[in-house]
Parts: sequence; C-alpha cells; structure tokens
Amino acid sequence: MSTNIMLNNDIELPALGFGVFQTPPEETVTSVTEALRVGYRLIDTAASYFNERGVGEGIRRSGLDRSEIFIQTKLWISDFGYDEALHSFDKSAGKLGVEQIDLLLLHQPLTTAFDRTIGAYKALEKLLADGKVRAIGVSNFMPDVLDRLLAETGVVPAVNQVEVHPYFCQPDVQQADKEHGILTQAWSPMGGITSYRGDASRSTFNDPVIGEIAQTHGRTPAQVMLRWHLQEGRSAIPKSVNPERIAANFDVFGFELTADELARIDALDTGVRGGPEPAEVTLEAFHRDIPEA
Ligand code: NDP
Repeated sequence: MSTNIMLNNDIELPALGFGVFQTPPEETVTSVTEALRVGYRLIDTAASYFNERGVGEGIRRSGLDRSEIFIQTKLWISDFGYDEALHSFDKSAGKLGVEQIDLLLLHQPLTTAFDRTIGAYKALEKLLADGKVRAIGVSNFMPDVLDRLLAETGVVPAVNQVEVHPYFCQPDVQQADKEHGILTQAWSPMGGITSYRGDASRSTFNDPVIGEIAQTHGRTPAQVMLRWHLQEGRSAIPKSVNPERIAANFDVFGFELTADELARIDALDTGVRGGPEPAEVTLEAFHRDIPEA
C-alpha cells in the first residue's frame, strides 16, 4: 500500500506517483491503465507533454472512481499571464476529461517575464478559490525565485516539483521548500535523465553504491532510489512504459533502508543538473503552442 502525504492545505497526496514525460499518446493510455491497475493513484502529466488526453483515457479505462485518483498537470510558460493561464486550465481539464484537477503546477518560472509568472500564479489562486483545483504549486522554482513569488502572491505553493535523484539532490531547494511548508516532489526520481540525456554508462541505474545497497536488500537500484525518496519525506513520480518496471517501481513498501544507507545515497550528489537551468528557460528558446481541448 502506498502512503499519503498531507499538503499544506490539508489535501492528501499519494507519495509515490506515476510520470508520463516523453510517453507517446497511445502508450500513455496503456501505461496509465497499467499503473493504476498495479496500485499507483497519482498521475503526473503536463500540457507540454501533449499526452493529457491519453492520461484521461487511461484513467477512464481503469474503471476506478475519479475520486480515487490524484491528477496533477502543469501549465506551460507559453500560457503564462492571468487570462492565458485561466484558459490553459480549461484546455488541460478538457483534454483530461475532468471537471477538477487535483494539483495544478506552473511548469517553470519565466524569470525573464516574471510579471507573467505572477499573473499565471494568481490565476491558480483563483482556480483554487473557485474549487476548480484542489491544490496549487510550482515546478523548478529555485529559492530566490520562490521568494519573489511568495512576496507577490497570497497562497504558499503546496508543492515544488524539482529534479532530485542521487546524482542531483538540490539540498538548498529542499531546505527552502521545507521552511515554507512546501512539499518537494522529485522529478526524474531514479535519475532517468542521467541515462536519456547523459552517458548511459554513468547513469544512476549503474551506480556501484546503489547497486550494493540494492543487493543487500534483494531489490533493484530503481527500488532503492524510490525508497530513499519516500524515507526522506519526498514525493516521487517515476516513469516507465514497461509493465514489469511499472509494477516493480511501485513495489517499494516492503523494505526499509538504514540511516547509513540513506546517507551513502545522499553522498552521491554531484551538484550537476541534468535538466535545463531554470533561469535559462525563456519563451524564445522554449515556446510551445498548447492546443485547445
Ligand atoms: P525517471 O527517473 O522516472 O526515469 C525514467 C527512465 O528510466 C525511462 O527512460 C524509463 O524507461 C527508465 N526506467 C524506468 N523504470 C526503470 C527501472 N526499474 N530500471 C531501469 N530503468 C527504468 O525519469 P523521468 O525524467 O521520466 O522523470 C519522471 C517523471 O517526472 C516524468 O515522467 C514527468 O512526469 C516528471 N518530470 C518533470 C519535469 C519537470 O520539469 N517538472 C522534468 C522531467 C520529468 P522505460 O519507460 O523504458 O521503463
């Protein structure tokens, strides 16, 4: 059984969720259906993944009641600004085929046009007040940018979804989140980005320390990394399109890492980011047209 984490507005979020970044639309339907079948109850998508329709279809095919599933999606920077963001909610909800979204995040800060970031966040506050979303949050917000947001808005984000895996832990971000009562949710929680964007032979999945800990427990490196997040109080959203890995990545509730093992994994942090520098995500470089529902 998965465990839930209480957010700062008293909404419960399943600690271990399922990601669909880079999953093509048709495979999204099958992988989401499979994830829900084996027990995941949180699905993480984004307008810019262009697979929200597949997530909605996978959820409907699961036969589960809507109230049993926690759906989170993210507004892309091209839809920032107050009115644009309100409309973007309609686009995402329409594609997902739901009235209400559980958690809506700003996918990235737009630091070069911060007024539009603030406008978009104020739209999230409005959607929250209107009951269209149950919680709101951000993604890829570094502490200085978070401070700027907090200074200009009223609702403290419930979640900050950031890159966290054994090779890039961002302790400063985790600390800032904690001080503000914001849950850190790990993207690329198994360091997937270290294989698909880096040199696969130097990926977290092949790390000798993680491998040794995995062997001790008769588990896989992926399971050890996911267990590490859960025991350190983070939410994690592993992605897979492979049914065996989808199931194995959720089977992490029957073992416990020691304090020493957690510390050994923490010590693997290289300080090297796999994803783009958040401050370098500009409209010029990262514009995407988000289609209507
Ligand atoms: P993950 O750490 O989840 O790794 C996924 C990669 O690892 C895939 O290539 C997958 O391949 C492979 N994999 C999955 N399970 C295993 C396993 N047990 N053993 C070996 N390999 C495995 O990285 P992601 O970058 O996909 O991040 C997860 C989610 O986080 C995304 O899907 C998305 O929802 C979110 N995200 C958010 C971002 C943001 O900016 N907010 C940025 C990036 C991700 P296969 O599918 O073939 O199993």
